[in-house]
Parts: sequence; C-alpha cells; structure tokens
Amino acid sequence: MISSTAVPFKTLTEKDSLPDQHGRFGPYGGSFVPETLYYPLKELEEAYKEANLDPSFKSELHDMLREFAGRPTELYFAERLTKKIGGARIYLKREDLLHTGAHKINNALGQALLAKRMGKARIIAETGAGQHGIATASVCARFGFKCKIYMGAEDMRRQALNVFKMRLSGAEVQGVEAGSKTLKEAINEAMRDWVTNVRNTHYILGSALGSHPYPSMVRDFHKVIGQETKKQFLEKTGKLPDEMIACVGGGSNAIGFFHEFLDDSGVKLIGVEAGGKSLSEGEHAARFEGGKLGILQGCKTWILQNRDGQINQTHSVSAGLDYAAIGPEHAYYRDLGRIDFAHASDNDAMDAFKTLSCEEGILPALETSHGLAYALQRAKELSPTHTICVNLSGRGDKDAMEAARIMGVEGLPKMTFA
Ligand SMILES: *Cc1c(COP(=O)(O)O)cnc(C)c1O
Repeated sequence: MISSTAVPFKTLTEKDSLPDQHGRFGPYGGSFVPETLYYPLKELEEAYKEANLDPSFKSELHDMLREFAGRPTELYFAERLTKKIGGARIYLKREDLLHTGAHKINNALGQALLAKRMGKARIIAETGAGQHGIATASVCARFGFKCKIYMGAEDMRRQALNVFKMRLSGAEVQGVEAGSKTLKEAINEAMRDWVTNVRNTHYILGSALGSHPYPSMVRDFHKVIGQETKKQFLEKTGKLPDEMIACVGGGSNAIGFFHEFLDDSGVKLIGVEAGGKSLSEGEHAARFEGGKLGILQGCKTWILQNRDGQINQTHSVSAGLDYAAIGPEHAYYRDLGRIDFAHASDNDAMDAFKTLSCEEGILPALETSHGLAYALQRAKELSPTHTICVNLSGRGDKDAMEAARIMGVEGLPKMTFA
C-alpha cells in the first residue's frame, strides 16, 4: 500500500463551478456518446439544472433521505479499534446504517425524484454486485416506478440472494450474457435500453461515472455525506480531521465524502483503490497503478486497458470496486495534488474486515474494508494527537458468505438461480 506523492495544494475556489459547461473536469469527463444518446443526456441535464433551483425538490429529497433512508448517519469514534492500533484516533462515518445497507440510496433517491419530476414512468439501472440494484429497486417500489435492472449473468450467479431481493421489491432483473458477463456489459445493455425507451424511461446510473451530467449529478446527491461529517466532526472534536479516507470504485462515496473539504487545505484526502491479488495486469482494479487516459462508457478518464486500447479484465475481492475506469473528478483532483490515492490488496481488506468486526462489532462491506485497511496503516504512522475519519460506505452483511468462503468455513449453504 503506497500513497502517491502529491504536490502541495493551495486552495480550490472553483470547486463549486466544476465541471465546466461541457461536463469536463480539466481534461477528464465530458460526454463521449453516440448521437442517439445526445438528446436524452441533454434533457436530463436541463431537468437536473431546473430541479436544483427548485426549493421544493430539495425539501422533498431532504425529507425522503431522513424518513426513508435514515439520514443523518452518525459519526462514531472507534475507541477500541483506536486503542488496538495505537496511533491516530479513528472516526467512522456510518453510511453503513442507511436503508439497503450502503451510501447508494442517496443517489437512487435523488434520481428517482428527478425521474418523477420529468414525468418518467419507468426506471432502468445497471448493477455489479447488486447493491445499486437493490437501492434502485427499493426506491422504485416506494414511488411506484416500473423497474428493470441489468446485471451480468456471472454476477447474477455470484450474487443470487441480491437478485432475489431485487425481485421481492418488484424489479425485473435481466441477465446479460455478453463479454465477461459482469458490470461493464450490464452498463452497455442499460444504455441500449435507454436509447430505445427514452420517452418514458430514466436511467439511474450508480456511480460518479459515465457521460455528463452523471458524474457531477451523482456527486451532488452524495455531498450530504461530507456536509454532515464536517458539522459532526467539529461538534465532537472542535477541529477538522487530519485525514479523510474512503474506498474508490467509480468514486461516488469518496467524492461525496470529500467534496465539502476540498477547500480545507489542512485536511488530507485519500482515496483507496482495489489492489486485488497483485498489481499485475488483470489482477487488480487500481486505475492509477497501470491505467492510462482513455474513454469508456461516455467518459474520458484513467482506464485499465491494454496497448490496443482494449479494456483489461479487473479483479477485486469486492465486486463494488471491480471496474476498469475511475470517476473523472478524482482524476482531476489527483492531478492537482488535492486527493492522494493508495491501494489495498484483497488480503489487506480481509484483515481489516475481521479487525473492525471483532474490535467494534461492526461488519464493514468488503469495498469499505479497503479504505479501512489503509486507514489502519496510516493510524499506526500517526500520533494519538491526530485524527482520521473513514467513510464507512456500507455494511458487510452482503459479504459475510464470501468472507466465510475465503476464510475456509465448511458446510456453507448454496443458492443459485437466474
Ligand atoms: C458500490 C459500493 C462502493 C463503490 O462505489 P463508489 O461509487 O466508488 O462509492 C463502495 N462501497 C460500497 C459499500 C458499495 O456498495
């Protein structure tokens, strides 16, 4: 686990005006889509702009986040974990306590309200492990949308229980057999559906990725994480944290957590990618370790690809970090030296998963465990006068079976259906 060295960062007054009018964060982001998607994206951009200016949209979202999702989430001082590690004081932002088990519901609710405003009757979404699919299916049930979730056939096999949960909430789950039968193919299929049915359909993309306006819109719906954290941290400690750490798949929980702190130059921000089995090609999902500039699914950013520009296979023990591209805003702040990036391996994440579970009785998601693994290493290097705040993006119930399998527990029940 090594953190990239950053040039000293001064201040970033333009943060609230990013992206520019073309959806670009410096050289990253933008909108690289076929013509058929141009109008749907334009319509969405306009509708979102308008909703943002309407106080009734914000107040309805605020109420739903409170009553349906369970916001605000607590900021928790992990006292026993801190004592065990013996360094900086470790605080956890408890997004794992949200309805459906992770931060993803913040974005799903925001986009569902937007879809309602746009008069759409049908929602589609992609999902990898199933967390975004479950959050989307849940809000669709709540608002009475027809819902279709695209999921790679291989992911459906690995995450059978999540498929069942989505179907319980009334969603149709469509397996995708193309390519590696995982997230990337599911996104392609969702885009195809959207082009065909755009008149009555909204596409709820699940991370701070894809074409403009998704990266900034999804970020905005998650900014509440950092806003709450700032207030709670000041109340609890009288200061801002020295370091803030979050895991980075597409980058939505991390950018939501960090955004409110971008101007606070004394706060070190660190994103943690999936180091997988090793940093050899195909064995990880650390885009800043071996990736290069390219375009994938509408967005220009750092991508794991081979010399011919073909997208590499990726691997991580956590399905939610297992994607070849990183959100464009992260690439931009990395260039500026404002967000540092590190990576944690499958083994590091499993160790952190076990440590938090037995020290605090909190089972973190395996995605989250990557951020946590790096935080534990950092805490050791710092003194007890320092503080670290980790975004606990999701709970580990969904991963308990996989963890048991990795830990060699015998006699596990099997569940498969498609
Ligand atoms: C999906 C997921 C992630 C990764 O997605 P981001 O967009 O990078 O936040 C991280 N943690 C949990 C618990 C997730 O479900």
